[in-house]
Amino acid sequence: MKPLGPIPPGFVSRDGELVIGGGKVSDLVAEAGGTPLFVYARDRIATRLSHLRAAMPARVGINYAIKANPFEPLLSYMRGQVDGFDIASGGELQLVERIGIDPAKVSFAGPGKRDDELEAALVAGVTLNCESEGEAARTLAIAERIGRTPRMAVRVNPDFELKGSGMKMGGGAKPFGVDAERVPALVRSIIEGRAEWRGFHIFTGSQALSADAIIDAQANVLDLAARLSDEVGIPLPKLNMGGGFGIPYFPGDSPLDIAAVGEALHGRLADLPASLARTDLCLELGRYLVGEAGVYLTRVIDRKESNGVTYLVTDGGLHHQLAASGNFGTVVRRNYPVAIASRFAAEPAEEVNVVGCLCTPLDRLADAAELPYADVGDLVAVFCAGAYGASASPASFLGQGPAREMLV
Ligand SMILES: *Cc1c(COP(=O)(O)O)cnc(C)c1O
Repeated sequence: MKPLGPIPPGFVSRDGELVIGGGKVSDLVAEAGGTPLFVYARDRIATRLSHLRAAMPARVGINYAIKANPFEPLLSYMRGQVDGFDIASGGELQLVERIGIDPAKVSFAGPGKRDDELEAALVAGVTLNCESEGEAARTLAIAERIGRTPRMAVRVNPDFELKGSGMKMGGGAKPFGVDAERVPALVRSIIEGRAEWRGFHIFTGSQALSADAIIDAQANVLDLAARLSDEVGIPLPKLNMGGGFGIPYFPGDSPLDIAAVGEALHGRLADLPASLARTDLCLELGRYLVGEAGVYLTRVIDRKESNGVTYLVTDGGLHHQLAASGNFGTVVRRNYPVAIASRFAAEPAEEVNVVGCLCTPLDRLADAAELPYADVGDLVAVFCAGAYGASASPASFLGQGPAREMLV
């Protein structure tokens, strides 16, 4: 037996079935027209945001990093829920424009922005988080050619990292941002280039569950921002402090203590250096806001035995939920939280392997999992599917096509 990850708290059953956002899974699947299906629950996002806002100082804005989940109805919903949006491509820029998000609330990070993306961003009026001196020079040249005043921030590659972070994105040599010691000179050239100076973006990592690690990283981010803006010699207009707030995916993971993070941040903000006294502060979060609000539902197509092992073969798989299969940046495969959604109230009865329908041994959804008896037609739920699911999986692989998605 291999343990399953923890099911996010608050999921209940009705008539024996899993309920998501007030609807039974069989009804949701019927409404969507079938499986595989991602269901994202508004009520869970709202609750998450209200707890987060209660814990964080009011001065700190909450941004949504849309790469976590760019499903349009969800993005439209987020427009009324968060203070800003972080995008990382020209495609995501088109998305925020289509949805009518105020460009003043949008910042565009990401290495390798092409000239056409920079131009579209300048025309739209979003803030560009410059990832290099070369990109800053290209931005200023394009702005001059098209007669726009660019809004420019600098993404700093910090000289520290978020400890215990699932994905390290700061510290040492990185493709992201500009090394801290070169930042003051770059900022001066941006200001001399007549850009509107928008401040720093300092992202230190992702998927941290340790409050202490986040508290340390935030303290370091504030210190670094103060030191760099003192060197630049003008007060900092804005500081995107990054995020890195993680969610429990695997057995043994416990939720981040958001109250502890908030309390420490309250303390820090109470005695900020002069250069940050009036700085606009924000966090940028992806999975923490939406990850636990999503459930991936897939149907059992076949039940079979091989050498004493029972397989539940589903109509879904890694082409929709790459991360749950263990092939999205993990070294050792561990089980995500998985349940038999159509028998959510039933007790575990047997050990099974839940696999996808792709013809590759990589396509696993749960290994040696203790689950209630399930047969052809039953629905399997993979939890923590609200972030880095549909849009971060190879939907064209093996020609199975994309999953349905719905916001409830
Ligand atoms: C991916 C990313 C995020 C969101 O990360 P989560 O782990 O989903 O919170 C935020 N900011 C930047 C710069 C990113 O690249």
